[in-house]
Amino acid sequence: MSVDAVRSLAELIGSSQPCVVLTGAGVSTESGIPDFRSATGIWAEYDPMEVASIWAFERDPEQVWEFYARRLGVLLEAEPNPGHLALAELERRGLVAAVVTQNIDTLHARAGSVDVVEVHGSIRTSSCRACGLRVPLADVVARLPVPACEACGAVLKPDVVMFGEPMPEPELDRAVALAREAGLLLVVGSSLEVHPVAALPEETLAAGGKLAIVNRGPTPYDPDAAVRLDGSAGELLPAVVAALSS
Ligand code: NAD
Repeated sequence: MSVDAVRSLAELIGSSQPCVVLTGAGVSTESGIPDFRSATGIWAEYDPMEVASIWAFERDPEQVWEFYARRLGVLLEAEPNPGHLALAELERRGLVAAVVTQNIDTLHARAGSVDVVEVHGSIRTSSCRACGLRVPLADVVARLPVPACEACGAVLKPDVVMFGEPMPEPELDRAVALAREAGLLLVVGSSLEVHPVAALPEETLAAGGKLAIVNRGPTPYDPDAAVRLDGSAGELLPAVVAALSS
């Protein structure tokens, strides 16, 4: 870990308020949840169009639930890691305004982050597309392997954004507004390849804000980042918090 780079990021957070954080699957890999695009990621094993697209759900909801039930097993066992906890601590100290996340795992909220914008939905609920009934996670788990609506019998759909579905408008609008207002957009654990979220750094830069990236491996925005730390979010973010305390 480069101590100088950690200190540079700590200084940037202190001097470029408000700081908005944008996280992806990489912030949760140290909680035991695989990301999508690494060599060991979920898409190395599954074809996303067969298990995580709205077309697959409409064609064969049982197959989608078979995949999703396996993911739920992992997601339900996961606990927030030091990276999630460090971001919550920065918010408590008034140094992070909000966390925009692509993750559906709810780990930011469980770590203590208060203002969390979940642009891809979350596992908290599933809904009936026929009659609109919304069902909390515990009831969904009780009805596996293929949870059906108790009111009308249709197969429930997880309230996560699948490939081919639009993002929820209020969350996307808020994410864009936060990115434009940000003095610093701190990207953590995202390949910045999934649009429209991947365009948020462009919003910040166009409005005159700065960009920092904490990620294992490259992103298309690396040349635009004022500070870039390549490595583990669970090690680097607590080090940044420690640098801000010293
Ligand atoms: P992605 O898989 O495209 O990219 C993750 C990035 O994080 C990669 O560059 C990877 O090298 C890096 N990374 C992995 N472990 C890291 C660590 N410990 N520290 C720092 N960096 C690390 O993920 P993305 O950009 O979030 O892609 C978007 C899609 O993945 C979203 O649709 C999201 O909903 C979904 N997703 C969510 C979860 C979750 O909820 N935890 C898990 C998998 C995928």
